[in-house]
This record gives sequence, C-alpha cells and structure tokens, in this order.
Amino acid sequence: MLDWQLNNRADKNINLSNFSINLPTNQNQLFMPQVSSEPRQDIRLAANLIKKSRHVVVLTGAGISTPSGIPDFRSAGSGLWTRYDPMEVASLRAFRYNPAKFFAWLRGLVINMAEAEPNAAHIALARLERAGHVQVIITQNIDELHHRAGSENVLEVHGSMRTLTCISCYQKYNSGGFVKSYLENGEIPRCPDCGNVLKPDVVLFEEQLPFKTWLQAQAQASNCDLMIICGSSLEVMPVAGLPVKALENNAHLIVVNETLTYIDERADIVFRDDVAELIPSIAAEVIRE
Ligand SMILES: [Zn+2]
Repeated sequence: MLDWQLNNRADKNINLSNFSINLPTNQNQLFMPQVSSEPRQDIRLAANLIKKSRHVVVLTGAGISTPSGIPDFRSAGSGLWTRYDPMEVASLRAFRYNPAKFFAWLRGLVINMAEAEPNAAHIALARLERAGHVQVIITQNIDELHHRAGSENVLEVHGSMRTLTCISCYQKYNSGGFVKSYLENGEIPRCPDCGNVLKPDVVLFEEQLPFKTWLQAQAQASNCDLMIICGSSLEVMPVAGLPVKALENNAHLIVVNETLTYIDERADIVFRDDVAELIPSIAAEVIRE
C-alpha cells in the first residue's frame, strides 16, 4: 500500500504491544539510544558510523519529502483523507471499478509532485552516494525526488508514476506522453493498443509490492552494516520490517524522524531534527575535506 495511506485507516494507531516483530539481540551497538540534545556531538557520531560502515542503506519515507512541499498524507490537516476515503479511491478494486474517480483524486497529487523540488536532504543523500558512503536508498515515496536529486541506486518499493501499465494487455508505457492531457483536461490515460485504462505503477491498497524491487530491498537490508531510517515512522508493513532484517545482520541503525518509531529503542542514534537540516549536516561531516 502507499506509504501515505495508513493514517485514516482504522488501524492507523499501531499498538506496539501487538507489533509482532522479534527484535534480535544486537551485539554491535556502540551507543545507547538517545534523542539528540547536542546535535553537533550526535552528528559527529553519526558521521563516524557512516564512515566506518561498509554497506550503508538509507530507508526513506514521507518525512523526507515534506520539506519539498509534498504533504505527509498521514498527518492531520493535510486534507486529502478528510475529503476522500482512501479505500474508496486508492485500492486496486476501487481503481478497476471506478478509474475516473481514482484519476480525479490523483490529479492534485500529481500536480503537487510535479511542482516539488528535491530538498537539501535528498541532495545530501545523493552527495553521500556519489562519495561512496551510501550504497542504496530504499524509498516508500512515489515522488521520484531522490532520482531528481541525483541518486542513482534507488529502490522504489511503492512504485512510481514514471510508468503506467494497461490493466488489460499489461503493456507498459512511460507516463510522459499522457501527463499533459490528463493534467490539462482530466483525460484518463488509455492504452494506445487496446483502449483500456492505464494504471500508474504505484502500489495501491490490496496490491503486492513490485516483486523484484522488494526482493532487492530485503537483500539490501539483510546485507547492510548500517541502516539510516530517514523520515519514516515505520508504520506501513512490509517495509516497516526492513530495519529488523538489518538488525539480524548486526547492523547499526540511525533513525532520523520527527516522531517515535517502534525501532528507536534499538537504534544507535535517534534524531528528531528536521531532515532537511540534519542530513546535510551529517553529509558535510562525512565528506569534510
Ligand atoms: Zn492494453
């Protein structure tokens, strides 16, 4: 399901006592988890962890894109779910039953994403990748801002709007040729071959994650020695389980998120700072001349 769809569901408040993930014992933890009170020291510790790590995986969620003006749709007041029940518009069943309603709902989001620019956090992660300090980004976001910031190794586990697939003949198309008439006239994209509706390749409710990408994400999580969770509250399964795979490999964890996550207590360092300020500060410390 889409990362931003959990909040208005009945189960949005995950009861941590029922959260049935068994946390492995991590023998490698260097630091006690702490909420950042002296950012400089924490930033240095985080930078040191990154520098001494062999394989760094960054897991990003909606929180990294809010400074770019893309609302976290799980946040109160974003308005989107107060007007629409996501199950009525953004599930696979709803899409097949009433694609017009789906595309009418999606339009605001597509405009929002088209107008957004990568922020300092996206850019800093791309810089870390180019410098060899980040090996892969696993993102729950569908906004493509990591790519636009220059990151190359990005696993979009909830898909993207970059391509569309025909629901009848399964032909895949780049979305570029359909966007203009959709945004300007509300024209629903249709398959040039068979005339059926095209579905954006984003993961809707009731849909599985893209199989190959999800396998790669799991393998990356299992092989990393440092995972940085960046702007994700880790509330949407199965992606929320990836940090556990990292812990099973005795990886270190850094959490950068404004609110509590279930994995905080197992993290080496927890930051509550604004990602667009913190990630560049860490990157600057890592790549210091
Ligand atoms: Zn078709």
